[in-house]
Amino acid sequence: MLSEQKIRQNYRDAVRAFKTRYPKVQFAWSYKTHYNNAICRIFHQEGSWAEVVSGFEYKKALGNGVAGSNIIFNGPEKHHDELRLAIENNSIIHIDHFEELYSLIELCGEMNKKARVAVRVNMDTGVYPIWDRFGFNYENEQAWTAITKIVASGKMQLVGVHAHIGTYMLSTNAYKIAATKLCALAMRCKNELQTPVKYVDLGGGFPSANPLKGALMAGSVPSVDEFAEAITSTILNFGFKTDELPLLILETGRALIDDAGYLLGTVLANKRLSDGRKATIMDFGVNIMFTSFWYDHKISPAQETSHFDEETVMFGPLCMNIDVIRESVTMPLLNRGDHVVVHKVGPTT
Ligand SMILES: *Cc1c(COP(=O)(O)O)cnc(C)c1O
Repeated sequence: MLSEQKIRQNYRDAVRAFKTRYPKVQFAWSYKTHYNNAICRIFHQEGSWAEVVSGFEYKKALGNGVAGSNIIFNGPEKHHDELRLAIENNSIIHIDHFEELYSLIELCGEMNKKARVAVRVNMDTGVYPIWDRFGFNYENEQAWTAITKIVASGKMQLVGVHAHIGTYMLSTNAYKIAATKLCALAMRCKNELQTPVKYVDLGGGFPSANPLKGALMAGSVPSVDEFAEAITSTILNFGFKTDELPLLILETGRALIDDAGYLLGTVLANKRLSDGRKATIMDFGVNIMFTSFWYDHKISPAQETSHFDEETVMFGPLCMNIDVIRESVTMPLLNRGDHVVVHKVGPTT
């Protein structure tokens, strides 16, 4: 169950956080965070572009009426027919590796059309381990090499630089570092290659309000406003001329939809485990809620219950040992047929 109202409110709050601080802002909905068409269309109605990571998602975005030029095509696997379609539609292709870069040079030659491209950049932001499997590394100059190859080829139009530094990031400073490094690349494009880029894309990664398993979170989750302040102040102070400030793109996913999703479940049975703990078996498992592997989702009874609470293990219905919803949760006595609400299950990932 998803609240359309909550989604729109989250989106508008996030847009406001950035637009009140920076003149040119564009959000692009991360399809893999939730690719239900009705959900995607809410974001598009609000003005969001589409950010996709597969040919499947790319075609979905087209089907949802998104203009080709407003689709950002990310991800390490883009087939040639999908790249051709993206070039044809003037979509923005974020290049992940050199093999893709060389494919694009060939395809653009064949089609006699300049693809609009950006490089995905990974970097040290002070948060470890570094997410360096996607895109080109900043520190070892692969990102710069990719940029020079794109420009030298004459076959593509370099329109931006992109980073998605991780997910569930708790450090606003990491975004300051990422913004600084992307701005440095953008500045170099202009000064050394006479090829100014139109945008810097800081990706997604803002944390959800869900507690991560095992983490002691003493109110340490920064708000979207704090991330917006860190990112926009960095770009504004970097040294661009006012009329040459790049467009700021954000691909925020989970932070926009997390608390808009609820799951209603039903108790199947109770039992005692060998060590005396109470166990409750629910009719939903990790197959439909695999976020239970990393979040301690809040679960509350959906009807009047006794005031007697007991520590409970909550299992799903699958005949698999890994099907655990909560390893330990304090719950009142629930009987077969009783309902519970699981909170903040908006994203599908
Ligand atoms: C998954 C993903 C996002 C969204 O990430 P969140 O952490 O949910 O904000 C944005 N950009 C890219 C490239 C992604 O893969």
